[in-house]
Amino acid sequence: MKSKKVAKVNRNVCVSCGACLMACPRQAISTPNGCYAEVNEDMCVGCGLCSKTCPTGCIDILDRMGA
Ligand code: SF4
Ligand code: SF4
Repeated sequence: MKSKKVAKVNRNVCVSCGACLMACPRQAISTPNGCYAEVNEDMCVGCGLCSKTCPTGCIDILDRMGA
């Protein structure tokens, strides 16, 4: 069953530092293009660790659509 929350990155603010990748216990985040982080929503459990770690505060934990 999917979590009710999911992480969402503000691409305009992300500096692709990689801190959220290190913080995520599910390996749900990657920086495939080197410009901003992307969340694999199927793997994200909405724990919020990435959001707490992000130095620019650009990750929000939102209600999952349709959950
Ligand atoms: S920690 Fe924040 S600024 Fe750094 S890559 Fe992740 S989302 Fe971007
Ligand atoms: S909310 Fe948790 S599982 Fe989802 S991307 Fe952030 S650290 Fe990973």
